[in-house]
Amino acid sequence: MMSVIGMKCMKCGKEFAPAPDRYVCDVCGIEGILDILYDYSKIKLTRADLEGCPERSLWRYRPLLPLGSNTPVSPLQVGWTPLYHLPRYEQTHGARVLLKDDGRNPTASLKDRASAVAVAKAFEAGAQAIAAASTGNAASSLAGFAASVGLRTFIFVPKRAPKAKLAQLLVYGANTIVIDDTYDRAFELSVEVSRRLGFYNRNCAYNPYCVEGKKTVAYEMWEQNGFRVPDRVYVSIGDGCITSGIYKGFYDLMQIGLTDRVPRLIGVQAATCNPVEVALRTGVFTPQSGNTIADSIAVGIPRNRLKAMRALRESKGDCISVTDEAIKQALVEMPRQTGVFGEPAGVTAWAGFQKDLARGAISKGETVVVLITGNGLKDIESAISVCHLPAPVPPDLATVEAHVRRLV
Ligand SMILES: *Cc1c(COP(=O)(O)O)cnc(C)c1O
Ligand SMILES: [Zn+2]
Repeated sequence: MMSVIGMKCMKCGKEFAPAPDRYVCDVCGIEGILDILYDYSKIKLTRADLEGCPERSLWRYRPLLPLGSNTPVSPLQVGWTPLYHLPRYEQTHGARVLLKDDGRNPTASLKDRASAVAVAKAFEAGAQAIAAASTGNAASSLAGFAASVGLRTFIFVPKRAPKAKLAQLLVYGANTIVIDDTYDRAFELSVEVSRRLGFYNRNCAYNPYCVEGKKTVAYEMWEQNGFRVPDRVYVSIGDGCITSGIYKGFYDLMQIGLTDRVPRLIGVQAATCNPVEVALRTGVFTPQSGNTIADSIAVGIPRNRLKAMRALRESKGDCISVTDEAIKQALVEMPRQTGVFGEPAGVTAWAGFQKDLARGAISKGETVVVLITGNGLKDIESAISVCHLPAPVPPDLATVEAHVRRLV
C-alpha cells in the first residue's frame, strides 16, 4: 500500500493528487518544485524490522519510498554504502567523525539513489524512454539504471562534462545530445523536448521523486550510526537536491517516531559559485555564472534552492563556501587520511568540514558525518593536476635502488 497522499508546491503551497508524471506546480511552472507528502500513520517500519532486514541496498527502506508495492525495480545494488569511523579526530578534537562513501554506488555517485527511484517511476508512468540534462553524474547514473532495466535514454549534456562521465554515457548506450552551450540551457531544452516527445523526465530538481531516492542516504547515516541521529552533516550543494533529500530523510524518521530530531545540515559550496550561501546570508537570490574545479556543483542557478534553503534553516544549519585551493587540497588530503578517493565536488564537503574544524566551529562530543557524493575516478585530470607525477627512472638496478633509497 502506497502511503503518498499528495504533492505540494514549495512556492505557493498548492496541493496536487499524486501522479508519477506530475513534476511541477500548474501555477508556478518550473519554479514550483513539488514536495511529496505522506500519510505517516500508514507507514509501518520499526527498528526491529530493519535489524532483521537482509536487504543491503536502499530497498530496505521501501515502505518509506513513493512506489507501489508491485513496481519492478532495477537489480543494481544501490545504497547501503559504507560509513567509516575516523578515530583520529576523537584524539585531536574530541569529535566523532564519520565518512559516508557514496562513491561506492553502481555508477559511482550518490545520483544512483535518485535514478533507482526515477526508473521505477518511469515504469509506473508507462514510459518507454527517460530523459535528463546533467553536468555529468545524473546523466551517467541514469544511463546505467536505464540500461539495467531496458529503458531507452536521452541525455542532454553541456559541452564541458568530464571525460569519465561521458564515457559512462557512451558505454551504457544512452542517446547523448551534446548541447553547444551551458548546463542551464541543456536543462531547459531537455524539459521541453521530453514534454514534446513524451519521455519520462529524470531532472532531479524538477522530478520530485528524485529527492525521495536521495533521502535514503539519511536513513543510512542514522541506522549505520547505531540508530542514532548525528549532530551535523557536511554536504556539497549544486542544485540543492541532496541537501533537500537529507533533510527529508531525517524528517521522515521523526514523523514515524523512530527519531526525535534532525541534524544540523552544513551545505558547502565553492567560493566562486556560491548562490545558496549568498541567498541564505542576504535573503536575496542572485543567479551566478561562476565556475569551479568541482564541476558537479558548478550550478549558478540552483533549481532546488527553495527546498535546500528550507532544509538548511529548519535544521539550524548553515551554508559555507571553500576556495578551489581548499578543494584541491582536500582531493589529496582526504584519500591520504582515509583511503577514500572522491571527485572534486565529492571532497568539497570534506573541505568545509576541515574549515569548520580549523575555526573551532565543531564542539567536543559532536558526531559529524561528512558525505562524499562521488568517486575520484570520475575526474582523474583534476586529481593528477594536484599531485606530482614522477619522471621515469632509467631501468637499471643501481639507479632504481639509489632512487628508492632517497624515498625511504
Ligand atoms: C550532483 C552532485 C552534487 C550536488 O548535488 P545537488 O543535489 O545538485 O546539490 C554533489 N556532488 C556530486 C558528486 C554530484 O554528482
Ligand atoms: Zn505553486
